Amino acid sequence: MSKTLFEKIIAREIPAALIYEDEHVAAFRDINPQAPIHVLIVPRKPIPRVAQAGPEDQAVLGQLLLKAAAVAEKLGLKDSGYRLVINNGPDAGEAVPHLHCHILGGRKLQWPPG
Ligand code: AMP
Repeated sequence: MSKTLFEKIIAREIPAALIYEDEHVAAFRDINPQAPIHVLIVPRKPIPRVAQAGPEDQAVLGQLLLKAAAVAEKLGLKDSGYRLVINNGPDAGEAVPHLHCHILGGRKLQWPPG
């Protein structure tokens, strides 16, 4: 099976501004930032989207959120706040079929989202 875009980033086959990685996840700056701080955190396991996650992925999903909070803190967003976004499917605008969580911060974010 061919690698996803984010697997290629994790494998250093495509350049990216990696800011964190461990045995479960990797985090790198979004190439088209929608906020002063816009980072993607992705599990190493290429689960296509949250709707395709199964019970066997419980630990991976937990790591994704726990590490998202840790990365947000590392980026200085703990006190100001930040938004975590997971797009699932066409109506949400999902473009890369490798589960990822957007970490957005550094400005006041609007609600509801567009
Ligand atoms: P989504 O729409 O939730 O699937 O988000 C995909 C995100 O990946 C978008 O915000 C893109 O800007 C971002 N993206 C696409 N290609 C790259 C890349 N090579 N490096 C970093 N971010 C990327």
